[in-house]
Amino acid sequence: MQKLSELYRGKAKTVFLSDDPDLLILEFRNDTSAFDGEKIEQLDRKGEVNNKFNHYIMQKLESAGIKTQVQALLSDTESAVKKLDMIPVECVVRNFAAGSLCKRLGVEEGIELVPPTFEFFLKNDALHDPMINESHIVGFKWATQAQIDQMRALTLQVNAILAPLFAEGGMLLVDFKLEFGVDKNGDIILGDEFSPDGCRLWDSETRRKLDKDRFRQGLGSVVESYIEIASRIGLDI
Ligand code: ADP
Ligand code: UDP
Repeated sequence: MQKLSELYRGKAKTVFLSDDPDLLILEFRNDTSAFDGEKIEQLDRKGEVNNKFNHYIMQKLESAGIKTQVQALLSDTESAVKKLDMIPVECVVRNFAAGSLCKRLGVEEGIELVPPTFEFFLKNDALHDPMINESHIVGFKWATQAQIDQMRALTLQVNAILAPLFAEGGMLLVDFKLEFGVDKNGDIILGDEFSPDGCRLWDSETRRKLDKDRFRQGLGSVVESYIEIASRIGLDI
């Protein structure tokens, strides 16, 4: 498979066209950003770890019946994925209160949410990814009501698959963000990535933070911790 021109350079990944019109190449870089790109650092091996982690999780989701972009792991830092027309909306599920939810509602970090909450955010760094509701998504034609219903159902299904997987590794899946796109057949497919950059994971016993909050909060050992998460769910990187 041949890598052609660069299509888009995001904060953490670069997207390339390939010689197959239905496939793209995602390159996972070491760039790590927080606070809408205000804090940026290069973390050694982060690209490799997230590339392999994402591939492993997407494969698990595929085998559990979720349609994902997954195609092939091409190298340490590159994956071939299905080309999607991305929906500019982030889908967030929370099993425990943390992050922006605590700031927005003034609630204490760590409160368990049963059933889990579900939120949509608009993917727009300049506007700091504002929270939106379904009527905004339909009104501005970012997605149809049927696509919204599917994205919500799929995100909650992913939570039901992954929360037990991480629990087996002694971790709490606190929250996570997913992005979906539409393929050439018009089907909704899970795109982008699932990695410790886009979820929160705590040690079940001690509640030690293992995810990107280590970077956001300057706790150190960020990539080491991502490697520990992988190893706890059976992936040695
Ligand atoms: P950001 O754009 O938030 O800075 P990244 O650095 O992760 O994020 O860039 C990756 C970009 O590629 C994102 O805009 C994402 O929506 C897009 N993308 C991810 N998966 C696919 C896919 N399968 N097809 C098309 N675009 C994708
Ligand atoms: N998240 C993400 N990208 C974003 C916003 C959020 O991957 O642009 C993830 C984040 O890592 C966390 C979950 O979505 O696992 C919920 O994030 P939250 O709304 O609490 O915002 P944050 O604290 O990241 O600003």
